Amino acid sequence: MREGIHPNYSEAVVKCACGNTFTTGSVKKELRVDVCSKCHPFYTGKHKVLDTGGRIEKFMKKYNLKSEE
Ligand SMILES: [Zn+2]
Repeated sequence: MREGIHPNYSEAVVKCACGNTFTTGSVKKELRVDVCSKCHPFYTGKHKVLDTGGRIEKFMKKYNLKSEE
């Protein structure tokens, strides 16, 4: 492995859609993401997870109704 064949790998500023910014190692200087650890529903446990749960619940209710008929 020779040195110099890799692109510059340095600190990049990541900008999230929620407005949060943080730095990470990347070949790019700036990155844009839709979700980050601060706003991702998996971490926050907010609205999006509840929406998904509601949809599944509705689906299960429909399924149960149909299976009973
Ligand atoms: Zn975010």
